[in-house]
Order: sequence, then C-alpha cells, then structure tokens
Amino acid sequence: MNPNQCSFCGRKKSEVEILISGQNGFICENCVEQAHAIVKESVHEEEFSPATSIEELKKPREIKEFLDEYVIGQDQAKKQLSIAVYNHYKRLLHNKDENKSVEIEKSNIIMVGETGTGKTLLAKTIAKQLNVPFCIVDATILTEAGYVGEDVESILSRLLMVADYDVEKAEKGIVFIDEIDKIARKSDNPSITRDVSGEGVQQGLLKLLEGSIVNVPPQGGRKHPDQKYIQVNTQNILFIAGGAFDGIKEIIERRLNKQAIGFSTDKHSKVEEESYILEKLNATDLRSFGLIPELLGRFPIVTHLDKLTKETMLRILTEPKNSIINQFVELFRLDGIKLAFTDQALEKIVDYTIDKGLGARGLRGTTEKVLEDYMYKIDEIEKDLLIDNEDIFI
Ligand code: ADP
Repeated sequence: MNPNQCSFCGRKKSEVEILISGQNGFICENCVEQAHAIVKESVHEEEFSPATSIEELKKPREIKEFLDEYVIGQDQAKKQLSIAVYNHYKRLLHNKDENKSVEIEKSNIIMVGETGTGKTLLAKTIAKQLNVPFCIVDATILTEAGYVGEDVESILSRLLMVADYDVEKAEKGIVFIDEIDKIARKSDNPSITRDVSGEGVQQGLLKLLEGSIVNVPPQGGRKHPDQKYIQVNTQNILFIAGGAFDGIKEIIERRLNKQAIGFSTDKHSKVEEESYILEKLNATDLRSFGLIPELLGRFPIVTHLDKLTKETMLRILTEPKNSIINQFVELFRLDGIKLAFTDQALEKIVDYTIDKGLGARGLRGTTEKVLEDYMYKIDEIEKDLLIDNEDIFI
C-alpha cells in the first residue's frame, strides 16, 4: 500500500485535494464522488424496479396478503385494488408485446371512504410492494389552466421528482389524487357561469387519465415561458383517486329507495347499515355527487372503504407491522424501558380518538399525548412502564 497515492485510481497525493486513509488503502475525493454516484444509482435501481415478466408479477392474492400486513380491515377495497393493480401491470407487460391482437385498456380506481380510513395508506402500500414511483397530490390545489393555482400537469412534476427525473420509470408509476370529491360540480346545473375549481379541473384531468403525451414543467406549479418541458406519456401511469364524498350514503339510498332494499335498522347497528348501503355504491352515485361522466368513464373501478369501528381502531393501534404502539415501544426501548399498555388503556385511547372524529389518523396524536409526560421524564422512569386506564387523563 502506497501512502502517497489513491488505491482506487492511482492518482498521486499531489494530484488530489485529499486522500482519506482506510485500513488497507487510500481513497481520493474523485473516487469518493464516483463511488457515491454508483451507490446512489444502484440503490435507485433497486428502489423502483417493477416486474419485467408476467411470471414475476405478484398475483392478486399475494398483493392482498402484503396489504394485510399494513392495512387493517377494508377487505373488499383490498381485493378490488389487488386485482386492478395486477391487471394494470399485466396489461403493461402485454401491451409491450408487438404481436398482440387485443389492446387492453387501463383501469384507474376511485376509492370512496371517510377521512382516515386508509385510502392513502392503501395506495402507498401498493406502490411500495410494486417498487414503482408513487406520489400524492391534492385535487384541491388544482385549477383550470389560466387560473390561480396549479395546472393539472403539476401532478406529473411530482411523479417525475419522485422518480428522480427518470421519465421511463415515472411512466410506470402510481399517482394518488386525494380529495377528488372536492372538485365535484357544485350544482347539477352545468356551467352557466364558469366553474373554476370544479368541472374545469375535471376536464383538465381527462387528458392525463386517458393516456396521452403531456408536457410537464419540471419544477411543477405555474408554467414559465422559458421553462423547458419534459414529455411524459401517461398511458401506463395508474391513477388512484380517493375522497370522502360526504353525503354519498344519502345519494345511494335515494337511488335504491331505502324501503325497497329492505334494510331493517332495528336489527342492525348504524355502522352495519352504513356499510351495507356503501356496498351498493356505483358510478351513477358519483355522477349524482358531481363527477362528470367523462371522468368517471376513465375510472372504471369504484370501491369503498368501511367506516372504522372501535374494534378496527384497536387493531390499527396495535396490529400492523409498524403500528403506533409498536413504534412507541421501540422508542422507549431505545432508553432501556419496557413499555406496555393494559387493554383498558388501549380502549380508552381509541374511545377518545373516536370522539375527536379524526379516524385512525388521530390515534398517533392521542397516544403521543398520553405518553407526553413519560417522554419528558424519560430519564427518571422505571424500567418497566405499564400504562393503565388510570394513567390516561385526556
Ligand atoms: P385517508 O383515508 O384519509 O387517506 P390515511 O390512509 O391517510 O387516510 O390514514 C391515516 C392514518 O391512519 C394512516 O397513516 C394509518 O396510520 C392510519 N390508518 C387508517 N386506516 C387504517 C387501516 N385500515 N389500517 C391501518 N392503519 C390505518
């Protein structure tokens, strides 16, 4: 080993700025940078590498099993999503085949469910399993071209950013459009005056959804005249839209005429009744809600998420791989403290969160609040910390 030269490129000490010494050699700044670039590239390769053959593609049942590890309940949505995603990527591999005689069209998905029931989590988990770029955009920030707000193309800027500007990878990604219900037409009376935030945005979205080549401003946001566009083909991008669609239950009921469906509220709980009605959801109801038929036509799969019951909330709190309780147990373990909760304490956390009406999203905040004082005095508490019903004063 020569202490006066880089063991990788052989440059002399005098030719480089710095030589870092290791156990058996030296490395110069040029080689460090090069090595860093290689590592970065290969990590990315691994990060986003969807299946390249149908055999390699995870089957719907495997996708669902993976979702089960992270998302509690919502079986129907998981099943529909697993099938849709499998078909989407199968289609993508099939359409690459030059000799194909049938062109399979894509199946974007709409998920209807109250806030905090797991819509975003489902979409995110699917993307994680498939190793494809994923981004979340909020439909409420979008406006029709020419108005204040972001143009619909900005959706793709985000996807590009996540894919590290690798257009080919971005073109196989998944976009989650949140709050799609907020761009519903405000009244059934189409466009007497221009509807900046509603129908116009829906129209704008059409071209992204149907599969076309879109000019994307790399930085997102508003277009600048001097900005160079990146062309992105949206044909293979899967769009999953989600929204709470407040009042959709009443729309379904009206369509079905509640008496006619014969649901007796005497025998069933309110939650059961609600999920029974939601199961009947279809595109007609979303149209009555204010989504335009052209848009719905591009979202052939409509699925719903169930309202979270106390039991599901308890499971969410404790069961998933990275459940909130497991995360706090880990946090305390790092200080050598064994944290545990009694069943009653867990129930109390759930009851309190349900009262706040934030869905499962509120569970973290409640748990955080319960543990606040213990975290503050972490250096004083005993090694075994059992959180009991009585410890919860919120
Ligand atoms: P939304 O339906 O509003 O998109 P999210 O998916 O963002 O809700 O859920 C918010 C948080 O609540 C998630 O990050 C997750 O921690 C938790 N959560 C919600 N629903 C579930 C579920 N079914 N299983 C596990 N965790 C859930």
